[in-house]
Amino acid sequence: MAILEAKDIHKSYGKQTVLNGIDLTIKQGEIFGFLGPNGAGKTTFIKIMLGLAMPQKGELQLMGEDIFVNRKHAIKQVGAVVEAPIFFDYLTAYENLYHIVSLSGPISRQKILDVLELVGLSTAIDKKVGTFSYGMKQRLGIAQALLPDTKFLILDEPTNGLDPHGISGVRSLIRKLRDELGITIFLSSHLLIEVEQVCDRVCIIHHGNKVFEGVVAEVTQSEQTIVEVKASKELDCKSWNLLKSEEHHGLQQLTFELDKQEIPQLVQSLIDQNAEIFQVRSEEPNLEELFINLTKDKHLDVRIDSFGN
Ligand code: ADP
Repeated sequence: MAILEAKDIHKSYGKQTVLNGIDLTIKQGEIFGFLGPNGAGKTTFIKIMLGLAMPQKGELQLMGEDIFVNRKHAIKQVGAVVEAPIFFDYLTAYENLYHIVSLSGPISRQKILDVLELVGLSTAIDKKVGTFSYGMKQRLGIAQALLPDTKFLILDEPTNGLDPHGISGVRSLIRKLRDELGITIFLSSHLLIEVEQVCDRVCIIHHGNKVFEGVVAEVTQSEQTIVEVKASKELDCKSWNLLKSEEHHGLQQLTFELDKQEIPQLVQSLIDQNAEIFQVRSEEPNLEELFINLTKDKHLDVRIDSFGN
């Protein structure tokens, strides 16, 4: 069963189009990265997923239910940390969770203790939240979202504002929740590196358009070959996957995506065209550029013309 199935979601605020026809399917057990620069429309999409905002057009099934028809049932096993969670500073971690979660039904003490242990707060159960670091509050927010029996966890920018130690702790917690408990996770982030480290699949949105969807491991495997040349006439590079051509200090800098074995043939072909070669080097691509380049020639509803702006 798909955990989430969104079709053609459109959302505007006044004249501003925030989501422009988003299709998305999330499968059970995956960690799905939802990536886009600030202002791309990520939080708006999450609000629609949770039935907290209505799109002008589109359909959305969450846990097999139409979110706009049967919200209460659809979100029963869905937990979300959408903004920095707010807790009562003068209550302990346990008391905070108890008071918040018992509003929606009875909850056992053991269940709360289990979840606190799971998120790494077992030594802070009886400590007042006012003494917590930002990272501990973030973990407490995740603990709250896991109660009472969450199968799908939505995290909006979960490492924002955390120090490196906190960031790595939250990332390993996300993996643990999926690996040990089979929880499906939707991770919204503007950080490519975060998505690369924890997600199985990724969707990139920009200006409300989906510009890429694919398997993270496939995206991050390739390398770029950069050749610096001087040529008196335009070079014919049609046989190669030329990603871009730029002028740098009087030299032409050509960036290709190739297999290593193809480099000698490429160099030979440039020499045959009387180009002077100053440098050939391979680089791990800047992930953001790689995403842009991948979306250029592949499938889909690509509107990447202004991605880097
Ligand atoms: P992201 O989460 O990717 O940073 P958002 O979904 O928060 O992006 O916002 C996308 C765009 O929608 C932004 O330009 C934002 O100003 C606008 N927006 C979001 N919510 C509202 C709202 N309630 N009213 C008007 N504009 C909004």
